[in-house]
Amino acid sequence: MVVELISVGTEILLGNIVNTNAAYLAEQCASLGLSCYYQGVVGDNAERLQGTLQTALERSDIVILGGGLGPTQDDLTKEVTARVLGLKLVEDAHSRERIREYLETRGFTVTENNWKQALAPEGAVVIDNENGTAPGLIIEKGDKRVILLPGPPNEMRPMFEKSIYPYLNELQPGVIYSKTVKVCGVGESVAETMIKDLIAAQDNPTIATYAKTGEVHLRVTAKAENEKEARKLVKPMVKELKGRFGNSIYTTDTEVTLEKSVIDLLAANHLTVSTAESCTGGLVSARLINVPGASEVFKAGYVSYSNKTKRKLIGVKRSSLEKYGAVSSVVAKEMAKGAAMLSKADVTVSVTGIAGPDGGSEEKPVGLVYIGCQVCGKSAVKEYHFKGNRNKIREASVSAALSLMRECILQYCSSVMFSE
Ligand code: ATP
Ligand code: MG
Repeated sequence: MVVELISVGTEILLGNIVNTNAAYLAEQCASLGLSCYYQGVVGDNAERLQGTLQTALERSDIVILGGGLGPTQDDLTKEVTARVLGLKLVEDAHSRERIREYLETRGFTVTENNWKQALAPEGAVVIDNENGTAPGLIIEKGDKRVILLPGPPNEMRPMFEKSIYPYLNELQPGVIYSKTVKVCGVGESVAETMIKDLIAAQDNPTIATYAKTGEVHLRVTAKAENEKEARKLVKPMVKELKGRFGNSIYTTDTEVTLEKSVIDLLAANHLTVSTAESCTGGLVSARLINVPGASEVFKAGYVSYSNKTKRKLIGVKRSSLEKYGAVSSVVAKEMAKGAAMLSKADVTVSVTGIAGPDGGSEEKPVGLVYIGCQVCGKSAVKEYHFKGNRNKIREASVSAALSLMRECILQYCSSVMFSE
């Protein structure tokens, strides 16, 4: 089946907001086995939206429109869709009640234009919006299907996951089932080389690789008559990947992030953690603290940016700074050691590097980063050469720090393996 995505909004057209919804939806549709041949963006203009939708309906089986479901005058996706499909807009009593309740429980006054959001083309299936007032809509006309979703990603995504994904899955013969194997500390090209033969021979299941900062996600997708059969096809491939990537796999659970896997690993081994950061300026601790439950294991985060604080706060030796420079393996090691002495944490990680754009030299170029890790008295330091702008280098450093922590804990003092 062919699906087409239309994002509605002048803000997207002008580049004021990035069309992350289209990226999300396209990925989801691909994982459902739907063919997405066209994507469009159209401003808040009735005539042009009408033309775009008409064209889409001529060449695609399913059209997903996002945005323009709000209460204001310039929100016209629903009105235009009803017109194109020749359907009347009628009030949906259930939506009206939900909108009233949603606004009143939050102390908002209901204004007359809010009721516009309770209108639905006759015969449409109304999808409740659990995070806002605009309901989603599924409209079936002949063999065509039009799906309307709200624009805000925090409303659209949960709605898609809960209601639209299962609906689309049902439309096709058989089911699609996929599992994502998340790998850290292995570069994208190395990862791809490691599974070159599997990719070349792929059929059912298929393997797709997605490069993330400091991570590679391998999605294994199978199609079968029912979920049980599809799972059976996916299982041996996931086992094969586990054999090839071993400890570099931090999870096969879509919900688990790298930082969560680190926090879980620390908690499972009853270890505490502290950080000593220079060029990442606290980003490593921020990512760890983002995980609910981090308070169980996280002790302190030191940001020692200047040489003076590296000495005075963290206890880096003046002679090390003078002899090797702040961006060096010796200083990274002393930072991790200092953070451990100060906070009495079992695990410490340190980051010192040149994020640029200035400060690089031939000997120490921009992107050179040393990450140290001390685990239960044992320490390791790694040298990295990251590419990209200041932000990219800092983000890559954070992911590498998390990966190195995982690696060191597993190597030095883990009595509990934690990879699911
Ligand atoms: P609202 O009730 O907020 O008006 P809506 O369904 O009418 O919702 P829009 O007005 O089109 O949606 O967009 C509202 C906001 O949602 C935008 O300002 C933007 O922040 C976000 N948004 C809309 N479309 C997209 C998109 N394609 N990708 C990412 N974010 C989007
Ligand atoms: Mg709007």
